[in-house]
Amino acid sequence: MARQDPPDREIADTETGPHGGYAAGITSRLRDFAVIVIGATFVLALLAVSGSMGWVEAVTAAIIIASGSGAYLVGSSGSPAPNRGLPQKEIREGTRQVTELKPVVDALPMPALHVGVDGRLDCANADARKVFRLQSGQRSLASAVLRNPALINAVEHALNQYSNGTVEYVQTGIQDQVWMVHVSALAKAGGGALLVLEDKTAMRRAEKARADFLANASHELRTPLTSVSGFIETMRGPAKDDKESWDRFLEIMFEQTERMRRLIADLLSLSRIEFSEHRPPSDTHDLKAIVTRATQALVPLATEREISLTLDAPPDAAYAVADPDEMTQAVQNLITNAVKYSPDGGHVQVELGHAPSLDAAKSQVGRHWEDGARMTILEAPRDEDATAIFIRVTDEGQGIGREHLPRLGQRFYRVDASRGGKITGTGLGLAIVKHVMTRHRGGVIVESLPGRGSGFGLWLPAAKDTAGLTPPVPAPDERLEQGVM
Ligand code: ADP
Repeated sequence: MARQDPPDREIADTETGPHGGYAAGITSRLRDFAVIVIGATFVLALLAVSGSMGWVEAVTAAIIIASGSGAYLVGSSGSPAPNRGLPQKEIREGTRQVTELKPVVDALPMPALHVGVDGRLDCANADARKVFRLQSGQRSLASAVLRNPALINAVEHALNQYSNGTVEYVQTGIQDQVWMVHVSALAKAGGGALLVLEDKTAMRRAEKARADFLANASHELRTPLTSVSGFIETMRGPAKDDKESWDRFLEIMFEQTERMRRLIADLLSLSRIEFSEHRPPSDTHDLKAIVTRATQALVPLATEREISLTLDAPPDAAYAVADPDEMTQAVQNLITNAVKYSPDGGHVQVELGHAPSLDAAKSQVGRHWEDGARMTILEAPRDEDATAIFIRVTDEGQGIGREHLPRLGQRFYRVDASRGGKITGTGLGLAIVKHVMTRHRGGVIVESLPGRGSGFGLWLPAAKDTAGLTPPVPAPDERLEQGVM
């Protein structure tokens, strides 16, 4: 129970108090008991003295009458339920309050319900009826519909002791919903309890995601760190004099520290992008210029593996409201992956283009291979008035198995970990791409054909106000094949 509010003055001043009705009932029943027992004893004694009745019969009759009225006294007192013995005035007051409360409960923007002094449901708004699966118009017992011991307890406290409380309630379903139920004792006599439900689901999910993320991040960092410290131990101990092995050890240690550096860089990028995710970019930039520079910067990486990297873009600019650094990073993550997962001597193609709508852009980047498997990693929010810009990076690598597609974009998910190969990536690259595109109100799709390659597509709304910035958008078939490298 969060706090214990004293009954307000109106209640404290009444003769009855919270259990006044109960106390008054007991007093009147005691009086009845005394009158019956004394009266009956007097009559029986008179009969016995006058000889109309034997003493044994008179005493037996007195005992039976006393036990009967005693049982009535004890049995009828029952539990101190607040409704029992409530003075009529309080019950009338409570009924009037319920009528006044209903429109308030209905108007609340969250699930809310009112439990009357008799422990029965008085009214519930539509949201609360959904949460507790209530039939409308039934005054069910609150304990039967709330089905949660802590919640029922809180309601009883509110009804009996006028104490307010807060209880967590988990509504089970395909996806559990977490509610914080605020139970308030309505301080007016006979006011019952008001339950208001606050949705905590998103907060709980965020807390869990943060905890999982920290656990994953520390695990990912601990692995290379353990390897480095293991090699240091070996070089100081068993391999102290084996200088010939040192070069090999140092090479592995260098790889592991590089891995830690990449992890930390990706973690920092991710946290920076997440931080700004709810503030969309404000300036208009030419995505064609951004994609061209991002591609050119990776030519040396591709050349190292004799991979040809080409860009196919229309001749004119492709303006979008965008953050140039983030878009550069998203495109470079896709190109780096394409190069990383391509065989030596392969080909990676980057395409950029305009589409008349977001949907058209999505099919442009997601449907290159009829028999390919595809998965939308992020859906762009609807914007009927927007034309769109798309970017696709296609490689000729081994492709990605259909079963892995749904998990791409999840932090730390790596297909190569299950392929059993050497761990080269951090598993954060696509998560970064997804966050960047969320901020740009765009989408991400992957298409894969094992043995043929993979294609990752991005699309986002084109800038609406391009007056003075751009020549007219050409039709898609006017696009020029343009090899930049
Ligand atoms: P990583 O840093 O491991 O590359 P990403 O988030 O960028 O992390 O990618 C997640 C996983 O998706 C990778 O580990 C890889 O297995 C798979 N993947 C991503 N891009 C490609 C691609 N172009 N071809 C094949 N597999 C890919």
